[in-house]
Amino acid sequence: MSLTLEDLATGTDHERVVFCRDPEAGYRAVIAVHSSVAGPAVGGTRYWAYAGEEEAVADALRLSRGMTFKSLMAGLPMGGGKSVILRDPGDPADRAALFRAHGRAIERLGGLYTAGEDVGTQPADMETIAQETRHVAGILDDPSPYTAQGVVRAMRAAAFHRWGTDDLAGRTVAIQGCGNVGFHLARELAAAGARLLVADVAPERVRRTVEATGAAAVDPGEIQSVEADIFAPCALGGILNAGTIPGLRVEIVAGAANNQLWEDGDGDRLRDRGILYVPDYVANAGGVISGGREILGWSGEKTGERIAGIYDTLLTVLRLARAEGISPHAAADRLAGERLAALAAERRQQ
Ligand code: NAD
Repeated sequence: MSLTLEDLATGTDHERVVFCRDPEAGYRAVIAVHSSVAGPAVGGTRYWAYAGEEEAVADALRLSRGMTFKSLMAGLPMGGGKSVILRDPGDPADRAALFRAHGRAIERLGGLYTAGEDVGTQPADMETIAQETRHVAGILDDPSPYTAQGVVRAMRAAAFHRWGTDDLAGRTVAIQGCGNVGFHLARELAAAGARLLVADVAPERVRRTVEATGAAAVDPGEIQSVEADIFAPCALGGILNAGTIPGLRVEIVAGAANNQLWEDGDGDRLRDRGILYVPDYVANAGGVISGGREILGWSGEKTGERIAGIYDTLLTVLRLARAEGISPHAAADRLAGERLAALAAERRQQ
């Protein structure tokens, strides 16, 4: 690996980054704890074939920082972390051995980090991890329906801010990705009376969504430039960039995908085009909030209230953005940064 410690430290403000190996299990991973100021760091385990170790480290650093901001904006007493396991080509020889090794690595952190599901991992993997550590969530419940509920709350708040009404009946929403979240989102929006355009690179997922909601299917290459009221990214990150933003024909962007902006400046590009962008980590916090039942012992009622609270949180962000003449992305980052600084100051005084 060509990275030096200095390379890693530059531009990051992480509390702890751990490299983990277990050659017998074919296990190589990075666990990044961005912040435990608000509470123990929580964030999913991604199992992914990276181009190299540098990419894996960069992903862990970026995603764990995003988790800190997501939890802060959702008012959760949790910090931000993320782990990535480097996936070799083909299926692992012994998947259980791999995830048990990960469980042992998490256990060695003594509760500083709690893992959950993420891209490439399933509830069964969380059960395997649980054989080695209790610091794992995502076994009891699928977070996707809660994430979808939160995205709808965010869409309603954005609609209110933009159009003066949060009624989504008759609005057209273009959904990119009909996976776990996209499917539930489509059902919620159909129930709210919205008209849906949906796309996915997996035809069976499109079929399932069309059958369940009466949505119209759109070519995946066109979903980002169809005319609609709202565009909902629910597939990949980085899809809002200098190349794609000029082609958008919507008034609001609000979806579940993590890291939708390619770079910070894309928040300004959207604002300059008059498109209201809902910061992804505010909109998609429903999943991590639902983890409050497993991790914090919250009742279903309490998590439901917190998910509903995404509406007011987003309005606060959008009003700050309007008052300061900055993008919603910059406003959310500023609020999250202020909350983190205040918590850190409180902690120093204790
Ligand atoms: P998923 O893998 O179930 O669904 C993603 C879907 O996108 C898949 O059906 C895939 O075929 C499709 N897709 C991939 N490339 C595409 C393209 N170019 N055009 C159209 N469709 C494409 O994942 P998910 O759990 O639904 O999560 C979706 C996004 O939301 C991810 O970015 C994830 O990180 C984020 N997210 C998910 C949750 C959750 O609770 N699952 C919580 C927060 C954030």
